[in-house]
Amino acid sequence: MPDINPGFDTLAVHAGAQPDPSTGARITPIYQTTAYVFDSPEHAANLFALKEFGNIYTRIMNPTQAVLEERVAALEGGTAALAVASGHAAQLLIFHTLMRPGDNFIAARKLYGGSINQFGHAFKSFDWQVRWADPFDLAAMEAEIDDRTRAIFIESLANPGGTFVDIEAIAEVAHRHGLPLIVDNTMASPYLVRPLEHGADILVHSATKFLGGHGNSMGGVIVDGGTFDWSTSGKYPALSEPRPEYNGVVLHQTFGNIAFAIACRVLGLRDLGPAIAPMNAFLLLTGIETLPLRMQRHCDNALKVAGWLKRHDKVDWVSYAALDGDPNKALQARYSPKGGGAVFTFGLKGGLEAGKTLVQSLQLFSHLANIGDTRSLVIHPASTTHAQLSQEQQIAAGAGPDVVRLSIGIEGADDLIADLEQALGKV
Ligand SMILES: *Cc1c(COP(=O)(O)O)cnc(C)c1O
Repeated sequence: MPDINPGFDTLAVHAGAQPDPSTGARITPIYQTTAYVFDSPEHAANLFALKEFGNIYTRIMNPTQAVLEERVAALEGGTAALAVASGHAAQLLIFHTLMRPGDNFIAARKLYGGSINQFGHAFKSFDWQVRWADPFDLAAMEAEIDDRTRAIFIESLANPGGTFVDIEAIAEVAHRHGLPLIVDNTMASPYLVRPLEHGADILVHSATKFLGGHGNSMGGVIVDGGTFDWSTSGKYPALSEPRPEYNGVVLHQTFGNIAFAIACRVLGLRDLGPAIAPMNAFLLLTGIETLPLRMQRHCDNALKVAGWLKRHDKVDWVSYAALDGDPNKALQARYSPKGGGAVFTFGLKGGLEAGKTLVQSLQLFSHLANIGDTRSLVIHPASTTHAQLSQEQQIAAGAGPDVVRLSIGIEGADDLIADLEQALGKV
């Protein structure tokens, strides 16, 4: 679109896509193929040597996936993106690119339970050490950094607690030590928060959630901000040293401000293999077209439901940043003025037992382990998503025993409130 400079809502529908050149199909086709015919032996050799961009094999790239990557990069304001099979696969590839055995990274204590498990348990077998820190205590976070630290990882809007963090202040700490700031932007989505504009260097998404938005397909996306200088220190050999598998190519020299995304693709995705299915890339792309409409409705509904719950006499507390008087309100207003997101937590005066009765009695809300669906969802994190954590870790993550988490959908807010009212009547 050479003559217009499209805004977010237009990019959500159009970025990366054009009518299919061979058939005229207006919707991006599902390129259900594993491999691609080369033009000539020379073309094939150039592709394998990273001398030319082009399709080789769907474990490494696919045309439907490529449109998804371009669209998410455009929405986030990044230089490039890589789509993979799930949010966890995206996180694995990010750290595979940054870390060597014996290295460590700092991660906020308030994270999605699955990430706490991945970092704390699975990563141990690679000898990658996670150091947990309170994202609201910058001095303590900084004190964890040493000469083997390779990154800081936070969520822009933390799951399950629904709290915003001060991205700019944490980016400053990271950059003072020559480290990239990685932000998981799953819960906010680029409609609410664009972390690259606040100093983040790398973004990760579970596209499974709000990007796709309909609870029908898994996917993950890595976004390269193009901002981090990989050349200066020897800390990131994947990017700064000659790669033996590509005839000595130095990725940051050859690929400049898209080097991180390229490294995740040609070293991580190629060799570890968590490729996204073309069908899932298609469904996620379709979902993204309505991201701005859905996110605003999620936020408007969540604010109504949270406000109603707060006034209910069986409810002990509600933690939703967009509510007036919430301790996180100032950060929400600064980083996410359009709303507080879809996910929040609350506690019942009757504690754990009351929470179980509530979850069982809800009819419109589905009891399941997901967020970011058009449908409203409910779960008790301490017995499910955060069950493998110690009680201390659960409380630190915002998932103590009395906590109920809601992911508010795009149904009618009055109907959601009516469902909560009848279920609270049984508590
Ligand atoms: C779900 C989720 C993940 C993991 O993504 P998957 O697609 O389930 O692998 C990571 N971070 C956050 C914030 C999530 O909600």
